[in-house]
Amino acid sequence: MTKEFEMQRREMVSKQLRSRGIRDEKVLAAMLAVPRDVFVPAAEKSRSYYDGPLPIGRGQTISQPYIVAYMTELLRLKGGEKVLEIGTGCGYQTAVLAEIARQVYTIEVIAELGERAKRMLTGELSYSNINFRVGNGRDGWPEFAPFDRVIITAAPREFPKELFAQMKEGGIAAAPVGNFFQRMYRYFKEKDGIEEDPLIGVSFVPCV
Ligand code: SAH
Repeated sequence: MTKEFEMQRREMVSKQLRSRGIRDEKVLAAMLAVPRDVFVPAAEKSRSYYDGPLPIGRGQTISQPYIVAYMTELLRLKGGEKVLEIGTGCGYQTAVLAEIARQVYTIEVIAELGERAKRMLTGELSYSNINFRVGNGRDGWPEFAPFDRVIITAAPREFPKELFAQMKEGGIAAAPVGNFFQRMYRYFKEKDGIEEDPLIGVSFVPCV
């Protein structure tokens, strides 16, 4: 099955990502490296590389591969960054970030999901640059601030101000924002404030 999944992953990268405009080679390499199938629950395994979101339990989802790649590309990661992620979920996006960035700090509000993701990422996949926390990500992680990048993978109605405060100047954040209708936003933290970039329409589970 591993070989079959590898083939499906290569096809995912060419047909779902490259052909739709994902250009960052670091992102494409990370998407090729991370086995999405290990994050997908048993009942959905055969659809691991399906071109859409899948349920991961507790009413939450693993995002569509394209959306994971798109958000990662928005962050313009070079490799040395300290990234704060809100919404660990199954940990798939976390792994993609950890492939590129120096350190990832990830927060999940549902303990069961956060703990399962931690077991997978530090056990079977043996990542050593991810730090896990169970709690509400809106408060950020002050002990490790400031961060170079912030990514939220659940939708708040407005981007939480506290997270801007925990970002470095020159930092970048990406998040889906809105209630029923959501839009992806990219934010640049400049000397004199936050510059925002409204992007594509999206659909995420709400950020509590
Ligand atoms: N990043 C995942 C998708 C996660 S789904 C992927 O790779 O596919 C969104 C996750 O955000 C859910 O697990 C949900 O429980 C979590 N979440 C929602 N609001 C949150 C909050 N305020 N703080 C931390 N996690 C939150």
